[in-house]
Amino acid sequence: MADNFDNPKYSKETRLIYGKDHTDKWDYNHHVIPPLSSSTTYRLDSAQRGAQGFIEFAHHEDEEASSRAPIWIYDRLGEPNKDILEENLAFAEGGETAITFSTGMAAISGVLGVLTRSGDEIIAHRTMYGCTFSLLTNWYPNYNIPVHLINLRDLDAIEETINENTRVIYFETPVNPNLNLVDIEALAAIVKKHNENRDPERHIYIVVDNTFATPFCQRPIELGADFVVHSLTKGIGGFGTDMGGVAIAPRKWQDLLLLYRKDFGGVLATKSAWPVMVYGLPTLALRMKRQIQSATEVAQWLEKHPKVSNVNYPGLESFAQHELAKKQMRDFDGDFAPGALIYFSVAGDTPEKSRLYGETFINRVAADAYTITLAVSLGHTRTLIEHPGSMTHSAIPPDEQLKRGLDPGGIRLSIGLEHPQDIINDLEDSFARI
Ligand SMILES: *Cc1c(COP(=O)(O)O)cnc(C)c1O
Repeated sequence: MADNFDNPKYSKETRLIYGKDHTDKWDYNHHVIPPLSSSTTYRLDSAQRGAQGFIEFAHHEDEEASSRAPIWIYDRLGEPNKDILEENLAFAEGGETAITFSTGMAAISGVLGVLTRSGDEIIAHRTMYGCTFSLLTNWYPNYNIPVHLINLRDLDAIEETINENTRVIYFETPVNPNLNLVDIEALAAIVKKHNENRDPERHIYIVVDNTFATPFCQRPIELGADFVVHSLTKGIGGFGTDMGGVAIAPRKWQDLLLLYRKDFGGVLATKSAWPVMVYGLPTLALRMKRQIQSATEVAQWLEKHPKVSNVNYPGLESFAQHELAKKQMRDFDGDFAPGALIYFSVAGDTPEKSRLYGETFINRVAADAYTITLAVSLGHTRTLIEHPGSMTHSAIPPDEQLKRGLDPGGIRLSIGLEHPQDIINDLEDSFARI
């Protein structure tokens, strides 16, 4: 069989099913499915080979060394399963290189860890996943790395906040959980202008958490971002069986990320890399297409429901940033791909009532629905529902939540692979009982 991993004649969707089967990491060309390699340590033949392995580790700029098959030493430094998965993830995102981590949070810590040192500053969007918010507000200030949480939809605010110490601009788009968007191209243009006048060692880098969209719906590097991070636990893994994370990066940051991962230790388990490689990536396009179609149907239905006050779904005409969504959320074929997440609020006269009705509704769903599960996480085969205000985003204090665009009664729905009419019927039954 010919290796067509790099052949643009075949669609990206198809090439992700086959993956890269000729690789200097490991030739698994005769396996139809790559073997699950699970060895913590590697036989080295001689002290010289061992020494050579340590010299070559994280020295990708050494052309001669990187053209040879690698010398595996110890799982924490690198091993075949993860390295092959990384090549496929870099391909999916259109990036130069990818480094996997044990979780999404480990990947975020890894990228911010290599990019910043004491005295640098981070600018981040004011709304984001609760644990990232906690990382940036509870830990980074202790390292003398100030974090400015601003509204990145306001381009003037960005200009006002950038200063000579700014090192990273960090955001999610769509934002977890309210699905607001940040304009990646517009932000990249601002950063490019600032970087022209800066020492290359002091460049500002754009880091995008692309977990909500997945590379199927959006590829931020193609739009001007420098780094992409993902929780592989979510849509890329796709089946809810394993935790993982990845950072997709410019080639010149590969070695530093590998050294960071070696020393901080947040290594993806081979037994978790394997299902992402064998089940997650090959089915990504198929799952996302189905979920987008169902999410569109569910969002349109919710929008017409009298007990719903507000629906945020990038695919709806009524979505405030629908034009931006159409510009930057595109699948591998260039078609509009608004994702599988919906954020909505149950109607109430006051925010307190809305919150109360929202919780009542979620409890009804938890008790009665077959096709909607009350659980955190997202990008699963099953439709998951949760209340960010008291769950995934509880690290953000309640009085801060409103200021950060978090409706106290907001409900996050991650559409799975069920028949969309079943999801709608279960939602209707629960609405009827509140
Ligand atoms: C879940 C999530 C993370 C963290 O990923 P883990 O794999 O749980 O560590 C980061 N960002 C976003 C947007 C997420 O949804």
